[in-house]
Amino acid sequence: MKNIIFIAPPAAGKGTQSAIIEKKYSLPHISTGDILRTEASSDTELGRYIREVLSTGGLVKDEITYDLLLKRLSQDDCKNGYILDGFPRNLEQAYKYEEILNKLNQNLGYVIYLDIAEDILEKRITGRRICENCGNVYNINSETQRPKLESICDKCGGRLYQRNDDNVSSFKNRYQLFLNKTKPILDYYKEKGVLYVINGNDTVTNIAQKIDEVLIKGM
Ligand code: AMP
Repeated sequence: MKNIIFIAPPAAGKGTQSAIIEKKYSLPHISTGDILRTEASSDTELGRYIREVLSTGGLVKDEITYDLLLKRLSQDDCKNGYILDGFPRNLEQAYKYEEILNKLNQNLGYVIYLDIAEDILEKRITGRRICENCGNVYNINSETQRPKLESICDKCGGRLYQRNDDNVSSFKNRYQLFLNKTKPILDYYKEKGVLYVINGNDTVTNIAQKIDEVLIKGM
């Protein structure tokens, strides 16, 4: 299986789709946001620095993110492919990623872009809830993604929480960063012939099906 990079603005559904692919193709889901959130929970200088950056919606320093990512991608479970979510976020990171791939003897694989409009994202972001136990993602503003009981995970009964940066002001900041820094990467990957664009304003099932078509065609 080839590696998959997911590129999308915040709350476009990367996490949800990654979880579906993870299960279906038995690939690990590597999210730099998750890695950084885990690191942010430790009471160290590094943890405090990351916590501060995450709360504003800015980007964590490249050297820190690279080190953590290289460490994670070097683990055995990534040898047969993985889903990368949240990285690269700018062209410098895209170039750096190729160095990381060379070190690991891996290829770029597919780049999947979930395309979705800003107003829809803003509505989604304020409704996003995540299970603290199994990581399942819900949206209280969506009829199809709402949990049956508010604050409780349908799958495991865990408590649902809202991410610190899932508020309108942090969203605006993250969205601007996405437009200015992340979107230009798409042209770079298009030229390399590895980019697939999928409409993100659709049901979870339909989007998953379109991603499947891309993956099956490329196998
Ligand atoms: P995400 O879970 O992908 O929305 O990421 C949450 C936050 O983690 C971002 O707003 C950034 O502060 C940080 N982050 C995630 N990925 C990166 C990255 N590739 N480079 C720098 N910061 C990142």
